[in-house]
Amino acid sequence: MGEPLVVLRDVDKHFGPLHVLQHIDLTVHRGEVVVIIGPSGSGKSTLCRTINRLETIDSGTITVDGKELPEEGRELARLRADVGMVFQSFNLFAHRTVLDNVTLGPIKAKGVKSSVAKTHARELLDRVGVGDQAAKLPAQLSGGQQQRVAIARALAMDPKVMLFDEPTSALDPEMINEVLDVMVGLARDGMTMLVVTHEMGFARSAAHRVVFMDGGQIVEEADPETFFTAPTSNRARDFLSKIL
Ligand code: ADP
Ligand code: MG
Repeated sequence: MGEPLVVLRDVDKHFGPLHVLQHIDLTVHRGEVVVIIGPSGSGKSTLCRTINRLETIDSGTITVDGKELPEEGRELARLRADVGMVFQSFNLFAHRTVLDNVTLGPIKAKGVKSSVAKTHARELLDRVGVGDQAAKLPAQLSGGQQQRVAIARALAMDPKVMLFDEPTSALDPEMINEVLDVMVGLARDGMTMLVVTHEMGFARSAAHRVVFMDGGQIVEEADPETFFTAPTSNRARDFLSKIL
């Protein structure tokens, strides 16, 4: 495992009276795959969103590759590119082709030449198994294919870390594995990943570490084998008994 890449120190956040993130300390090292699990409403999505400043924090610090993200401005846009994000809803541009969806970010945000962006996009689309869909509109693709395009789009920005927030939760069951397989491939290739998922098979096979959140707190963290066979907190045991 490499040096610390994403570091959250004593991060607090409220939504009004709700203390949604409570003293969060979390480090993701270069090349590490960290899976976050926990009940609905425990703060998992909010935690992800703070990392690229889609949400602000009340106190504490968050650094990506040693740099703290500012609240706004050009520097924020530049540093945000270091963090690729894939959501439950694919959020593709509906009126742009699959190829455009993957090239627009690099062209607009990074000033990459169109021809270079296209070549890279085609490689990425091949890598996620949808190279033959490049000329289509997102709606012409299955959910699993759209999510793989969303992964390619995030990768096109050449991020240092990829965040996945329940990337398979909106998919029909038969499409879940095609997305998880892409993620397993990324993990094997050494991508640094923070993944919110309830897919325990993925957690067991790809995660170096499982972080269990409940009520805005990190309650427990361990390697997957230890976590799934011998969780130490009552809250984790209770949660696992419901989902396994
Ligand atoms: P999870 O992803 O673990 O299900 P979330 O981070 O989405 O949890 O939400 C944690 C809590 O914060 C929930 O109680 C949710 O209702 C609340 N919450 C999330 N976003 C907002 C918001 N923008 N404004 C107010 N409350 C929010
Ligand atoms: Mg969520």
